[in-house]
Amino acid sequence: MKSRWVRPTLNTKFHIDRDWWEEKGRNFRVHLLSHLCSECQQRYQDYQETELIDWIDASTGEVAQVDGLWHSLRVCCSLKPDYVNELTPMTTAIFRVFLANGNEPLTPIELSQELNRPAETILRTIGGFQVYHGIKPVPEEEVRRVSRRKPVADEE
Ligand SMILES: [Zn+2]
Repeated sequence: MKSRWVRPTLNTKFHIDRDWWEEKGRNFRVHLLSHLCSECQQRYQDYQETELIDWIDASTGEVAQVDGLWHSLRVCCSLKPDYVNELTPMTTAIFRVFLANGNEPLTPIELSQELNRPAETILRTIGGFQVYHGIKPVPEEEVRRVSRRKPVADEE
């Protein structure tokens, strides 16, 4: 069954859709490189092959194979103060939140807590037909699959 387009709300889960990157023929890893800090960009500038490393998901305990580039971003670059700041463009800031959290789906409300920007503005930016950096609503059937996880408490 093909799901029809439903207008996203403040409670719709979004994520980075890797299929979008493949459909567009854009190289996700080249793009990923541009979000690394300058030290890591230096280190990975001649980086061609996919290097996979084991990543243990802290919330589920599952071991997943992740890309070495993405791993560096999570353990190094995303922890630096200027990874996302008030000057970071909205679409870049949202994309970087998903890179940093391992692409765990988030709603505009949750993103607004991460970014300290209004949820309505976030929804207007990523909730339309224009897709930025592959950020799209999570399809219904996938939402059900990940909703076993407990939502993050509001008072964080
Ligand atoms: Zn780095």
